[in-house]
Amino acid sequence: MKPVIVEGVLADVDGTRAGQVLIEGGTIAAVGRGLGKPDYTFDDGCLIFAGMGDVHIHAREDVTGRENYKETFATAAAAALHGGVVHVADMPNNPAAPVDDESYAAKERLVAAAELPVTFTLYAGIGPGTRPLGRKVPYKAYMGPSVGDLYFRSLEDLDRTLAAYRGQAVSFHCEDPALLEAHWAASTHEDRRPPECELSATRFALAMVEKHGLSGKLCHYSVGEGLSLIRAARARGLPVTAEVTPHHVFFDTAMLTDANRPWMQMNPPLRSPADREAMLEALRDGTADYLATDHAPHAVAEKERGVSGQPHLDTYGPFVTWLLAERGFSPERVAAVCSANPGAFVSAFRAEKFGRLAPGYVGSLTVLDLRKPTAVRREELRTRCGWSPFEGVTFPGGVAAVFVRGRRVN
Ligand SMILES: [Zn+2]
Repeated sequence: MKPVIVEGVLADVDGTRAGQVLIEGGTIAAVGRGLGKPDYTFDDGCLIFAGMGDVHIHAREDVTGRENYKETFATAAAAALHGGVVHVADMPNNPAAPVDDESYAAKERLVAAAELPVTFTLYAGIGPGTRPLGRKVPYKAYMGPSVGDLYFRSLEDLDRTLAAYRGQAVSFHCEDPALLEAHWAASTHEDRRPPECELSATRFALAMVEKHGLSGKLCHYSVGEGLSLIRAARARGLPVTAEVTPHHVFFDTAMLTDANRPWMQMNPPLRSPADREAMLEALRDGTADYLATDHAPHAVAEKERGVSGQPHLDTYGPFVTWLLAERGFSPERVAAVCSANPGAFVSAFRAEKFGRLAPGYVGSLTVLDLRKPTAVRREELRTRCGWSPFEGVTFPGGVAAVFVRGRRVN
């Protein structure tokens, strides 16, 4: 493939500047000025980021071949590119969960056979009695019942299992199963999974990171009060990062109505307006590290009967323009939470590096146009589940272009 030069305003964690990116053989060869005649030029209204990554999705396809009415790797990849996302990390709570070398390799073969334009990194599940794989992969531990069967009935069991995972990267779904049990009879979804469930689980997860020498990531963080626990753990030197979802910074419990309630159900649930603001601030001030969607492509009929989760890949880039244009996020901060940090997370498990506009990194780019308002319409979505919580919303900008390894794909 011939070298490609993309020119415009380059946005990375260390600042924005007018310049060019030269991509050769799918990899960034040079970044600067005067590299040659540009093949693509984007004007001042656009920002060129290193390809954005989503470290928490549920594509749902697995080796059983079931559930493909919700999504497949191919439809998740199409939704990702539509939203400006070039790499994703897929969660393991499949009917056939990847929990050991054999089951993990089987899911990996399925991904490879799909020949996807988006790079998939696979999590392995930690379930009762599992052991680390023979190679370095990211792990996911579910503490309490969510969607799927991959969870522990007691935290003591999880503690015992984690002892084998010293030195590994473990992501935690923080909801305390005993406290969930204690609130099961409450009348609303959010009252059945109150903030104290997440706070208690956060304390437990941080204790596990310390006790077992893990590198920890807290998934879809949603409770403002828990942020001080994360900061304190980092101050003690613990390697802990945190994800925040689009839904927890865009919606809150004050927006719930009888009509939208089923569509707004997810785990952890929507929180208070104060929590919503706290999550935005956490993404802005660095307490949170990743804008990760928890993309959960449940079908319309499933949502109507109260299955938890929302699809978010199609709208990732347009949503980011809301952070930039209406919530005061700097391009540098967006580069951190959407490109560099997700890239660093998956690059630890891969032979290539994602997430920076620098020589040696994968030559994938996400170009956002801050003057191209995007109205979210059901008929334009690529996710197979066919709906979005943002239908009817118009974001201030949109995705101008996506390059994957030097090739323009959107
Ligand atoms: Zn999830």
